Amino acid sequence: THFGFRTVAETEKARLVRGVFDSVASRYDVMNDLMSGGVHRLWKAAMIDWLNPHGEITVLDVAGGTGDIAFRILDRAPQSKVIVADINAAMLEQGRNRAIDQARLGRLTWACMDAEKLALPDRSVDAYTIAFGIRNVTHIEAALSEAFRVLKPGGRFLCLEFSTVRNPALAKIYDLYSFNLLPKIGGIVASDADSYRYLVESIRRFPNQERFAEMITATGFRNVAVRDLSGGIAALHSARRI
Ligand code: SAM
Repeated sequence: THFGFRTVAETEKARLVRGVFDSVASRYDVMNDLMSGGVHRLWKAAMIDWLNPHGEITVLDVAGGTGDIAFRILDRAPQSKVIVADINAAMLEQGRNRAIDQARLGRLTWACMDAEKLALPDRSVDAYTIAFGIRNVTHIEAALSEAFRVLKPGGRFLCLEFSTVRNPALAKIYDLYSFNLLPKIGGIVASDADSYRYLVESIRRFPNQERFAEMITATGFRNVAVRDLSGGIAALHSARRI
């Protein structure tokens, strides 16, 4: 059946998001490479560079899925601890299996929880990261307040998310890709073109760089800064809880 995305109710959104990640959990990492042509790796590397983790810090990686960001943090800061939080148990399970492979279980905690309601104490983490996750939560503001709440004063917020392409020529190519090719790839690899169409729509609807920066500031964060990646296809938003 065909559903009008503009009228998708919030519970429907949550259900769809779950469906997408349930259906791809085991192939998630391969899908990422396929869909982005491997570029997501460069974006994630840029995120870790800007985060610049070191020492015995505790990082909370929300919507951490299969742990891609967490493993990169541990590569850079072997003394750190990373809590991988995700609403989807199947994604976490994939990550945990990867951690067993890499003998890194001790530094990682896998927590099934909602970004909008983190089961963590106030002021308990040094950094909060979220990569390609905030777009999927139902209430972005609620996720941002939770980020603020769990961060220690001085703590760092860093978000990697799809954003708005500024160059009109690139925007055109990108639209062609996301509305035509991407759902086809999703249809073939995950047998789930509808879910991918939903994801493309969610990227479109996500606030642009400036608007999202304003939302972060409105939450109470300071030192809000933005870096575009690949012409704005993605962007990094950094901030501090002072
Ligand atoms: N951060 C990983 C990465 O970059 O490879 C995974 C990103 S994946 C595109 C998005 C993840 O967000 C999924 O694992 C999904 O289950 C999770 N997610 C969606 N809504 C969530 C919520 N409300 N709270 C926590 N995680 C959520």
